[in-house]
Amino acid sequence: MLDPNTVHVHLHPDMHTPDWDPRFMRAADPQQIAELAARAGGTVFWAFAKCVHGSAYYPTRAGHQHETLAGRDLLAEVISALRAKDIASVIYYCTCNDTWAADRNPDWSQRNSKGQALPEVSINDFPWTCLNSPYRQRVLEQLHELAHGYDEAVGIFLDRVDWGPGGCYCDYCQRAFKIETGHPLPTREQWQTPLGRTFMLWRSRVLHEFLREAQSLVKAAQPDWAFSHNVYPETREIEWVGQWPERDVHIDDEVLVEAFGDYTFEWMRNATYARALTKQRPIISFGRFVGPMWDWTTKPQAHLMAQCLTPLANGCDPMMIDSFYPDGSLDPDAYAEMAPVSAAVRARSPWCVAADPLQYAAIHLSLPSRLYYADDQPAEYLHDFNGAFKALADGHLLTDIALGRDLAADNLAAYRVLVLPNAACLSDDQIAAIAQYVEQGGGLVATHSTSLYDEQGNRRLDFGLSEVLGVSYREAINFNTTFLQLESGNEIGAGLPAATPLSLATTQWKVEAQAGTETAATVLLPMVDYGIAPRRITWGDPPPEMPTGHPAVTTRQHGKGRVVYIAGLPERAYFQRHYIHCRRLILNAVRWAAAAEPPVTLEGGAGLKLTAFRQPLAESGIASVGKDNAGSRLVVHIVNLQAVPGHDIKHGQMGGAGQLNWANPIEEIVPAHDLLLRIAAPASAATRVYLAPEGEELDFESEGGEIRVRVPTVHYHTMVVVE
Ligand SMILES: [Zn+2]
Repeated sequence: MLDPNTVHVHLHPDMHTPDWDPRFMRAADPQQIAELAARAGGTVFWAFAKCVHGSAYYPTRAGHQHETLAGRDLLAEVISALRAKDIASVIYYCTCNDTWAADRNPDWSQRNSKGQALPEVSINDFPWTCLNSPYRQRVLEQLHELAHGYDEAVGIFLDRVDWGPGGCYCDYCQRAFKIETGHPLPTREQWQTPLGRTFMLWRSRVLHEFLREAQSLVKAAQPDWAFSHNVYPETREIEWVGQWPERDVHIDDEVLVEAFGDYTFEWMRNATYARALTKQRPIISFGRFVGPMWDWTTKPQAHLMAQCLTPLANGCDPMMIDSFYPDGSLDPDAYAEMAPVSAAVRARSPWCVAADPLQYAAIHLSLPSRLYYADDQPAEYLHDFNGAFKALADGHLLTDIALGRDLAADNLAAYRVLVLPNAACLSDDQIAAIAQYVEQGGGLVATHSTSLYDEQGNRRLDFGLSEVLGVSYREAINFNTTFLQLESGNEIGAGLPAATPLSLATTQWKVEAQAGTETAATVLLPMVDYGIAPRRITWGDPPPEMPTGHPAVTTRQHGKGRVVYIAGLPERAYFQRHYIHCRRLILNAVRWAAAAEPPVTLEGGAGLKLTAFRQPLAESGIASVGKDNAGSRLVVHIVNLQAVPGHDIKHGQMGGAGQLNWANPIEEIVPAHDLLLRIAAPASAATRVYLAPEGEELDFESEGGEIRVRVPTVHYHTMVVVE
């Protein structure tokens, strides 16, 4: 296991090297690897045992060793050399991609429903091997070798525990499914029929059961190792690969979530997501390259800094992914570039470990809504979740992600407000927990189809949360783009133009308000529907024309809590079109429903991100300077992601193929100056406020239950510490 009392800088150079040329891996030098890792300031190194090509970097008896190593135990040499430099090693093992095994055992390949091996034709992808085939035994034998042969490692990581595109229909899968369910294996992926759903969930269970078996095998030999696998967040806009992270993650001691995409939004979202999955400090990984793999130069310092410090400010440790050259050497310049970034991370460690986030808003992420409701169009749900998360993050509201299991009344009680962005699929139990939470004073913001389906994707006649929301579903409005018109004199419209129709660029439901529900905005339709009516309109954007009187935004008191329902999807419009009025609308709704000021607020633009953690002084083992009544201190993180204009990060095309899209590098971050930070706390809570890690003391004022601090400058990231 890794020491939890310090932040770690993980280094992960990919060693996926084929062996058709005897020059490959010839220059692999454990001393060079260890020296560069130390130079880069890494504390944990991920050492390769087996790569996607199926080559082992140790002398395996169960499979194939990389030809050019000829019996040499490179893995052991690397681990020892690293240990001499006080760097821990996690063993990397590639699971469901193994070219060597698939080439020699064609029946072990994952196959599409026509019987063709996956992938059909591709130079940049690798054959998938099936865990229902005898390949599974091969993997377990190799894991046994590793768990019994490498005591100096601290853990093992299984990559690619997944189904290839379209999933597997091989003979082994057909036989296993028939035995278990009595049905023939369906011939395509399907969520909408009971058998299709059984099939999809069965696939997911195969991965889960494999992970369990692998974990218990490893733990039997190495109880102190950290076991982990590559968790693919459901936020990825690609075909579902069969993982069910909320269930699978209990097998892991460490959690790793990739954030390869170079969209600043993803760094914070994935970190918050990873934190929702685990109570440990998760790891967020990203490449050191400017492009995916074709441009071998290293990202500018500003980019690496922003990318490493954003997860740190969100309670996670960063991992930098590199790649070996085919000869087995690493690029020394790249490791020199990483050094100042690692130093910045490690200097912040004392204020980051053993810290708990300050809770204000929770946004629900619903895997059933992504699978059953959005089905093969994941963006139809994910853009709503992403847009809501982005709006709250850009609005500096402290936000956690609540997964399905977190929708229980005792978990929710810690939050002032729960946001359900188009959370279509909710179970009766979850609905009861949400109702109880609101009755007892929690705030709720729900949009569009929230609770219109059960957790299996079966349509309800009305919203399951109808009583709490104070609205009933009536029908769809047959317009793809709609507007809303604010009613005057309500807080939901604060800061928004009262007379201007506000575009949602999405459809809305026609709903009916129940007694006690106020209408804060009504639905306004365009003169024709974009894309449907065969009429000519000016510039292709039909202007607002027809008032309907249907409620578009409603507010009400339910028990002791406040509720906002929005019939459209302003969060999707914010995500896809960056409509600022939609962000304002969402933030107004959240703050009104919360019925309390956020515990920490920051004046400044959307390019600044705010998080806050409470850190018990005794547990973190830090010499206490000053004190507060609770024996803990407050650490407020401000991350600056304001890139120099002209080098901005694009926000379109996130996820999916976009995960590996090229993005503009951040060459420079514009420092932010003279920021006002307000912290809800009595005067007695602070004897000292200072900037970390610099230690510079800050003047502060305390008045009316609020501490006010002016932060002179934030370059990449700073911590304002209240003790
Ligand atoms: Zn199969």
